[in-house]
Amino acid sequence: MNIILLGPPGAGKGTQASMLVDERNMIQLSTGDMLRDAKTSGTAMGKKVAEVMDRGELVTDEIVIGLIREKLEGDKKGGFIFDGFPRTLAQADALAALLEEQGEALDVAIEMQVNDDVLVERILGRAAEAVAAGGTARADDNEESLKIRLMAYYKQTSPLIGYYYAKGQLKSVDGLGKIEAVKAEIAKALK
Ligand code: AMP
Repeated sequence: MNIILLGPPGAGKGTQASMLVDERNMIQLSTGDMLRDAKTSGTAMGKKVAEVMDRGELVTDEIVIGLIREKLEGDKKGGFIFDGFPRTLAQADALAALLEEQGEALDVAIEMQVNDDVLVERILGRAAEAVAAGGTARADDNEESLKIRLMAYYKQTSPLIGYYYAKGQLKSVDGLGKIEAVKAEIAKALK
């Protein structure tokens, strides 16, 4: 089974993806995590994307499609969970083509619906918790970058909801509940 978790920053995509990895032996492909790894390891690509990411804007389609392409070629285990990818219509088309090349297909895009005020609270809360625990917050978990990330979501990513609806591949879940409740809704959407 290959699925997309679709939703704005702070919707809980990463949390749900990691539970699916543990319980269904799926592979989480988070382009955000891959890009942050490239940033910390200081690769040429990491250096190139650092500023764009910290500002909260999207990196180029070419970069993220390249990252995903590499990962699709290996062991497919229980299937892929695309987390934070695709984020543009061009990425969505590229994903369909890449899956087809691998003899795979997308089963469902799960839209995690949340209220914008909750997102802002969650993200700024996540940053405050990280700092309170003696760590550092994600460079883009601040009010300024968050505004840009939300705008990028509404301008560039939210059209994917209509795109997957039109393809007959969209299911929506309420992402506002407790982690376990959202998990149960996702399990239902995967049946
Ligand atoms: P995330 O962890 O998914 O919130 O991603 C963090 C940041 O990485 C985003 O704000 C973008 O700058 C970049 N990023 C992650 N995934 C993508 C993508 N699919 N397309 C473009 N930029 C991305």
